[in-house]
Amino acid sequence: MVEVVDVRGLERDKRFPLIFQKLEEHGEIDVIIETKPEPLIKKLHEQGYIVKFKEEEDHVRLEIRQPEIIPGSCPGAATIFRPKLEIKQCPYCNAEIERWTDEIKVTCENCGKEVVFEIDSCVQWCEYAEKCLGDKYEEVMKTLKELERSKAKLDFSKYIKA
Ligand SMILES: [Zn+2]
Repeated sequence: MVEVVDVRGLERDKRFPLIFQKLEEHGEIDVIIETKPEPLIKKLHEQGYIVKFKEEEDHVRLEIRQPEIIPGSCPGAATIFRPKLEIKQCPYCNAEIERWTDEIKVTCENCGKEVVFEIDSCVQWCEYAEKCLGDKYEEVMKTLKELERSKAKLDFSKYIKA
């Protein structure tokens, strides 16, 4: 159920603060107001909200919604969703290692040692990572934890930053 905030009858200078306070609390709300409030809609768009506007009887309903996040649409998630092959150097024998950008551990074909790489992506800290990664979220978080453990075990001089 979406919270409905009726601001009709409220003084003009109390409307915006109330609307933004309710948005903070509920994330998404419907606002009932007398007429289409252009300055409010502009402000909401600036903050990334999606605003739908409906005329109902003697008032207007604004449906204020969070933008839908399409999994993998963020460029920062591309290293995970659309990994690219890159060439790295083995820190043990200097041979070339082919590594996909979503891989943490790669075994060097020359010396057989396991090399650990950093995953270079915003998903480690982005607050939308869970939505952005969708089904891949758990797998990626598991992998990142594994990376943390590997790092702890590794001698830093042998650790490569991607
Ligand atoms: Zn090697």
